Amino acid sequence: MLLKCLRKVTANLDIEPMLIHPTKWGYRNNKIMKSTGWVKCIAEIRNNETGEIREFETDEILVIGEKYPSTFIWENGNYACDCNRHLFFKRAKNEETEEDWDFECSHGKYSVNLKTKKDGNVYYREYNL
Ligand SMILES: [Zn+2]
Repeated sequence: MLLKCLRKVTANLDIEPMLIHPTKWGYRNNKIMKSTGWVKCIAEIRNNETGEIREFETDEILVIGEKYPSTFIWENGNYACDCNRHLFFKRAKNEETEEDWDFECSHGKYSVNLKTKKDGNVYYREYNL
């Protein structure tokens, strides 16, 4: 009974067709899942109102074979939002308080450049110095 239900659910997810006929994206997803690592990076977070820039240490996902870590989370993911950027900005100087968690969601209050910690190469840029 349980197995029958599971099979039904799986069929609805369209998993099988993708495995039988892998698309370019199928291979790519496979690659991302199988070979990733973490790279120590520095986010240079700028408070756009005051112009102050703080360095926040972060671990970014690197797909093996790629030159630089994925920027998705900063571009379109959770870290693109000012509420998270505000927390990181405060955290960079150990100034984080409980009120910082109530910071409203918005875009444009903070801008971020990302560089690798090891060689300092800026691989993602939202502002110029
Ligand atoms: Zn938010």
